[in-house]
Amino acid sequence: MQPLSLESTLQDLTLYDFTIESGTLSKTVITGFEKDYLLPGVVITENGQLWGMISRREFLERMSRPYSLELFSRRPISSLYSLSRQEPLVLPSDTLIVTAAKRSLWRSPELVYEPVIVEVNPKEYRLLDVHQLLVAQSDIHELANLLIRELYNKIEKANQELQRLATVDGLTNLANRRQFDQYLSQQWQQMRRHIDWLSLVIVDVDYFKLYNDNYGHLAGDFCLQEVAKAIKNSINRSTDLVARYGGEEFAVILPATSAEGAIFLAEKIIKNVRTLEIAHEKSPISSYVTVSLGVASMIPDLEMTPANLITSADEALYAAKASGRDRYILHSSLREQQVHH
Ligand code: GH3
Ligand code: MG
Ligand code: MG
Repeated sequence: MQPLSLESTLQDLTLYDFTIESGTLSKTVITGFEKDYLLPGVVITENGQLWGMISRREFLERMSRPYSLELFSRRPISSLYSLSRQEPLVLPSDTLIVTAAKRSLWRSPELVYEPVIVEVNPKEYRLLDVHQLLVAQSDIHELANLLIRELYNKIEKANQELQRLATVDGLTNLANRRQFDQYLSQQWQQMRRHIDWLSLVIVDVDYFKLYNDNYGHLAGDFCLQEVAKAIKNSINRSTDLVARYGGEEFAVILPATSAEGAIFLAEKIIKNVRTLEIAHEKSPISSYVTVSLGVASMIPDLEMTPANLITSADEALYAAKASGRDRYILHSSLREQQVHH
């Protein structure tokens, strides 16, 4: 028997071939049952037309009654069958096993275990043992469970991948803007509850348009990947998050970090990007790629939103650009017009 699948039909099961004409003597049936003790019953035809079926169980029951052997064995099977006629269940052989099991269990309780007649070809019949049918159905049920589990695992993996794709920037493998927004508002709430500092550093590559124009877009992409790595290597805490904020802009969220800590990190980023020594011959300020940074720090309160922190860091970045690039500016120092080289 081939392995079962969800689409298996009655053709895939063991079917028993024992069909006689209604005029055949009951003796023949006894012989048939004796020869193959797995035969679940006998199909009876009349002039080739399906007439009925007697199960082995019922046949033996009748025959074991007093005088029955004498009475029936020399007579045609029709005389015995007429005593017990009941509508047999007939199914085409391409019926799904699951469907057939359901149909056979729908029958009245005393008939549930009666064999099922399977029509394999027009006017050609076989018998199906219901116990074998139920075993097959239980195998298929197990198989279905296995498939569901496999499918579930696949979906789970696909979901994780989707989740990753939805939160990671494809070029730099940093967190994307979406994850940045989410993490910023989450940390905003947390620092508000803890009454602690939340710092944000925005990093922008200097004269990057000139870099692209000079070295090409592919080189530009590579440069962004290197700068991304340099920024990532500058942070230590697992709670810090480096994200690609826009085209050539990056952002670092620093929970529980005051301006002092953020400045320390900003200096480290500037140094690490310089150390890359990525040639930028068109830059008016350096022979290598440089970055400008805006730094902002706040203890979140109910009067402010994460957008305030972003705006502050942005303003500081703008000031860093305006005052010569390749440097950071802390937002709170803007009023004092302090510039940190
Ligand atoms: P500034 O020093 O004022 O920041 O000047 P800039 O040229 O860096 O700034 P601008 O905003 O004018 O140009 C940014 C450039 O970054 C323009 C765009 O072509 C480039 N860019 C943005 N995203 C990508 C990217 O994914 N790959 C590459 N190769 N270039 C990018
Ligand atoms: Mg920019
Ligand atoms: Mg730029």
